[in-house]
Amino acid sequence: MDEKSPETSTEANTPADAGPNNQDSPEQQNRSSESGNPAPPAIGSAGPIPPPPVAKPRIGETRPATGDESGQGDGEPGAGSGKRRRRRRGGRGRGGGQGQQGQQDKQDQGSGKQGGGKQGGGQKGKQGGRQSRRNQPVEAITDDGPLELDEETLKTRRGRERRGKPLGRYLMCVSVAGGATQIAVLEGRNLIEHYLSRPADDVSEIHGNIYLATVQNVLPGMEAAFVDIGTPKNAVLYRGDLQFDPEEVEGGGKARIEQVLKARQTILSQVTKNPIAHKGARLTQEVSLPGRFVVLVPNSSTYGISKRLPEGERKRLRSVLDKVKPAEHGLIVRTAAEDITAEELERDVNRLVQQWTDIEALVKKSSAPSLLYREPEAVFRFIREEFTKDYRGVMIDDRELFEKVLVYVQGVNPALADRIQFYDSGTESLPLFERHHIHEQLRKAVDRKVWLPSGGSLIIEHTEALTVIDVNTGKNVGKKSLEETVFRNNLEAAEETARQLRLRDIGGIIVIDFVDMEVRKNREAVATTLRDALARDKTRTQVFDISDLGLVEMTRKRIGEGLLESFSERCADCDGRGVALDEDLLLARPGK
Ligand SMILES: [Zn+2]
Repeated sequence: MDEKSPETSTEANTPADAGPNNQDSPEQQNRSSESGNPAPPAIGSAGPIPPPPVAKPRIGETRPATGDESGQGDGEPGAGSGKRRRRRRGGRGRGGGQGQQGQQDKQDQGSGKQGGGKQGGGQKGKQGGRQSRRNQPVEAITDDGPLELDEETLKTRRGRERRGKPLGRYLMCVSVAGGATQIAVLEGRNLIEHYLSRPADDVSEIHGNIYLATVQNVLPGMEAAFVDIGTPKNAVLYRGDLQFDPEEVEGGGKARIEQVLKARQTILSQVTKNPIAHKGARLTQEVSLPGRFVVLVPNSSTYGISKRLPEGERKRLRSVLDKVKPAEHGLIVRTAAEDITAEELERDVNRLVQQWTDIEALVKKSSAPSLLYREPEAVFRFIREEFTKDYRGVMIDDRELFEKVLVYVQGVNPALADRIQFYDSGTESLPLFERHHIHEQLRKAVDRKVWLPSGGSLIIEHTEALTVIDVNTGKNVGKKSLEETVFRNNLEAAEETARQLRLRDIGGIIVIDFVDMEVRKNREAVATTLRDALARDKTRTQVFDISDLGLVEMTRKRIGEGLLESFSERCADCDGRGVALDEDLLLARPGK
C-alpha cells in the first residue's frame, strides 16, 4: 500500500477537540431512530451484521467499549486537519466518479428499494460462487489456482540457499490462538515487528475495507463529515478525501464539504485508517483495490507506474498493461511488478477487476450502511506487501491458515512457495513463539525500561498527547571524557529508539530527551544516527532538529494501537495514573 497511503506529514494527535463532539452528540444519539426520510431501511437490515464490538476497554478510553451510542461523536475530525496534505490522482473530475454513484444510490433509495427483499434470489452464476451467499462482503481473491512459470523464470526468482536451507534476513512467525493471530517478524534472531490481529473483527481491523455508508452529519467548521459505516463508532471523511464531479455541485472544484455531502446521503467509501482509541476510522471516497503488483483504481483515468522502476522496465510494463487494463479503470503499478511476466500482471489485474465487478453487483442489492469489500486477514496483507526472497521463511502454526496462505503464494509467487511452512506444535517440542524466543522479546518490548549495550537505558512513557523517551547514561563512566561517554550513550540510544518505536508500534508525537551534549557536532551526529535508523522503518517518520534543551521532536505515522495497548488494559485501580492516593490525608479532617 505504500504507493497510495495518504500523504500525512504529521499524524499527530492534537488533544481531543471538545467542540465538534459536543455539537455532534444530540444527533449522534438519535442516529438509529432517524425517521425523516422514509426510504432508507433500518440500519443493519441488510448486509453483514457486524459482530458485537470488542468488550475489552482500550487504553485511552474513559469508558468501556460497549458500543454505546454515546461513543459516536468521538471521531475527532479536528485532529491534524490543518496539516494534512493530500495526494492527488488523475482520476478526479472524470465523468463517472463517485458523485454519480452517490446520486444513483439516492435514486435507488427514493424508489423504495429494500435490500432485504432481494435476498435469496440475488445469486448470479456469473459470480462464480465467489461472493456466493446473499450480501456477503466481497473478499480478496487469494485462491485462483497455482501459477505456472517456466524453469528459467523460477530459477531467477528463487531465494538463496545453503545446503538445502533457505537463506534470508527475515523470518515471519504466525501463531494462531484464541481467535487472534499474532505475526512476528524477526531480523536474524531479533524481533523487529509484531502485529496482533483478530481476523473476525469487523470493528477495529477495517483498513482497506469498502463500505456503502450513510453520511450522518456534515461539520462545515471541521471540513469533515461523520459517516456511518455500520461499526459502533462513526468514521470520519475529510474534505480532502471527497471525490465528486465539479460540474455537478455548487461551488465547482472549490466546493465546500457541505455543498458536496448532505446528511443521510449514501456514499461509497473506503477506510484508509483503522479506528484508534477514541478516534473513528478515516475514510476516502477514492476507492482502490490493492493487488500484489498493481492497484486498481475503479472509474478513474489514473495510470501510474512506480518511479522507482527503471525506464525500460516501465515501458515494458506499460505495453503489457495497455492490453489488459480495462478502459474505465485506472491502475497504479507497484515496484513489486519489476521483472514480472505478462501472465502474472494479467492475473493480478483480472483478480482485481473481478473483485470490483463483484463489489458493484453487491452495491446494487445493498443498503447503507453495509460492508461491501473486506480486506484479507493480516497474514495475506503482509505477504502481499512484504514477502520477498529476503524472507527465509514464513512459519504458520495453524494448519488451515497455512494451507490457505500456501495456495495464495502458489498463485502469486510460486518460486517462494516452499518457504511457507507449517509448524506443527503437536509434534514440535516447543510452541512456535517459544522456539524463536519471541515471547521473551515481547515481554521486554512492553517494559518501561530498555537497557542499552553500554549500561545506559531508555525509559518509555506514554501520555495522552505524546510519547516521551528519556535517555539515561549508565553509572560506569569509564576512562573517556564525559562528553565522549555521553555521546556514545546517545548514539546507542538513537539506534535503540528507532528499533523500539517500530517494535512497539508507537505512533503520533514522540519526544526524546537525550543526555545533554556540549559539542554541536556530536548533537548533529546523534540526530543523523536517529534519522538513519528510522529510515529502515517502512512506516513514515519525521524528525525535527534537536532543540535548545536537547530534545528531539519527531512524529511517526500511527498504524495500530501499539504493542502495549494490544497486550494490556488500563489499570482499574488508579485509572492508569500509576499512583495510590493517600485517602486518609485527603479527608476533610485528616487524622480523625
Ligand atoms: Zn494502577
